[in-house]
Amino acid sequence: MDSQLENKLYERFPHLYRERSAPLESSRMGWGFQCDAGWYKIIYEMSKEIQRLAVSGEFAPAITEVRKNKDGTLYVEARNLTPPIADIITNAHEKSRLTCEFCSYQPAFQRSGTSSEGAKIACGRCCVKTRTSPHPARRKGSKRPRRAPDTIVVKR
Ligand SMILES: [Zn+2]
Repeated sequence: MDSQLENKLYERFPHLYRERSAPLESSRMGWGFQCDAGWYKIIYEMSKEIQRLAVSGEFAPAITEVRKNKDGTLYVEARNLTPPIADIITNAHEKSRLTCEFCSYQPAFQRSGTSSEGAKIACGRCCVKTRTSPHPARRKGSKRPRRAPDTIVVKR
């Protein structure tokens, strides 16, 4: 996720993301939000709900990792969890299952990845955009000559 969006989350929920400056051996939050911007809203809403239920001080919940799972869904790890807060995290995970990781369009579906990154949740449009298959390019090329006659203007 780009740093501008990351900073918005850190500024709005400083205590929940307090481990972002902790050493990486104890918390992976130092890596930042390891997913694309389409899930920003899910993460924002999740953080807001957790903050509403959280106790204050040392035993307040702290998010220690946010990343994309191998199956393409959102994975969130946290410390000092209570059952209602664990439910909020499960909810965010379920929402990510149908939300495009790139543009937040719903419904999006799991696409099996061709890279080592694993699967991704993406809408049809983003799926085409990120695919590197030569097929769409070839189709575009064959369209061009057919379109040409329409653009000829005959002046008298
Ligand atoms: Zn999309």
